[in-house]
Amino acid sequence: MGITTDITLHDLSFDQLCDTLAAAGVSRSHGGALFKVLHDELDIAPGKRDELSPPLLRWLNSGDVPPIALPEVVDEIASEDGFTRKFLLRLADGHEVESVLMGFKGRFTACLSTQVGCAMGCVFCATGQMGFRRNLTVGEIVTQAYHVEREVRRLHGERLRNLVMMGMGEPLHNFDATTGALEILTDRRGLGVGATRVTISTVGHVPGIRQLAVYPQPFQLAVSLHGTTDDEREVLVPVNRKWPLAEVLSACRDYSKQKNQRVLIAWTLIGGVNDDPKQAQRLADLLEGMSVHVNLIPLNPTEDFEGSAPEPERVDAFQQVLKNANIPSTVRQRRGIDVAAGCGQLRSKG
Ligand code: SAH
Ligand code: SF4
Repeated sequence: MGITTDITLHDLSFDQLCDTLAAAGVSRSHGGALFKVLHDELDIAPGKRDELSPPLLRWLNSGDVPPIALPEVVDEIASEDGFTRKFLLRLADGHEVESVLMGFKGRFTACLSTQVGCAMGCVFCATGQMGFRRNLTVGEIVTQAYHVEREVRRLHGERLRNLVMMGMGEPLHNFDATTGALEILTDRRGLGVGATRVTISTVGHVPGIRQLAVYPQPFQLAVSLHGTTDDEREVLVPVNRKWPLAEVLSACRDYSKQKNQRVLIAWTLIGGVNDDPKQAQRLADLLEGMSVHVNLIPLNPTEDFEGSAPEPERVDAFQQVLKNANIPSTVRQRRGIDVAAGCGQLRSKG
């Protein structure tokens, strides 16, 4: 399977779309109308839109236009509780990625993938277990969101409000395509999701966190810690050898200061591994003075990892220690587990 390198229409930001028009001899002033059709109305056949201007239609039908490559929906499953829908999407080169729609109380969130597989190798994560295949392109990230958005409109008559880059892959290991896609998805002339409603979750890719800290968008940062010492963390998150805990935490502190934002800390709770109240206390000590919110995620089962979620009392005890230290936390609700769409369970066979 080769890698698709052709630029598609969905790869282009507003400015790039206008540049492309100008290069083809079409006035840049037509860019807005085309961007709206592609990124707000989500029309996949803009060449058939009569109301578009004649020069734009001539160009769209000229045969010399970047193609539209929409991922094909191979499978779609809804969780029993109806809150989660998982889509298996096939890309132009045959690789498959998963995107998830989560809808609680009218607040619809799309969880998007940024890579096929992942190079970081976290032992408890289904995506890590499959290894790295390739980065997704801007267009492949953008069109995942559009697939989810269409479903939100069709099923609920609503719109996506939040985006979380927590699907397959490490978004900061594919920084340019991830931020490029988010520029398009947050563009008010298109889908227009609020930039503060976008969360980028990272395993602790320190150079990426530092790059994002000076990136001019107020995206939320979520950092997955899972361990309170290098030894503890390394077992679960092998890239801790490259970016040790102290460096990750220092990058988090700097991000929070630079952006004047709370950083989210993700902690996958594994019974008997990192669910001890002593570890909760050490976590509280590490986070002291930092503006954070901790998300506790009881482990979801995956094929190649033997661990299991802690007993609910252990989860409560862990959370209580954080509470006593004045650290706000949430236990992530276990939605979509019956369709293997919980955190870390996304895995493609492609
Ligand atoms: N690569 C990024 C984002 C994708 S993973 C990251 O690691 O943050 C999204 C979240 O799911 C991370 O917090 C990760 O630790 C968590 N996760 C992965 N596998 C899991 C599993 N089996 N059970 C519970 N959470 C898991
Ligand atoms: Fe990659 Fe995140 Fe899974 Fe780790 S948890 S392997 S970084 S997707």
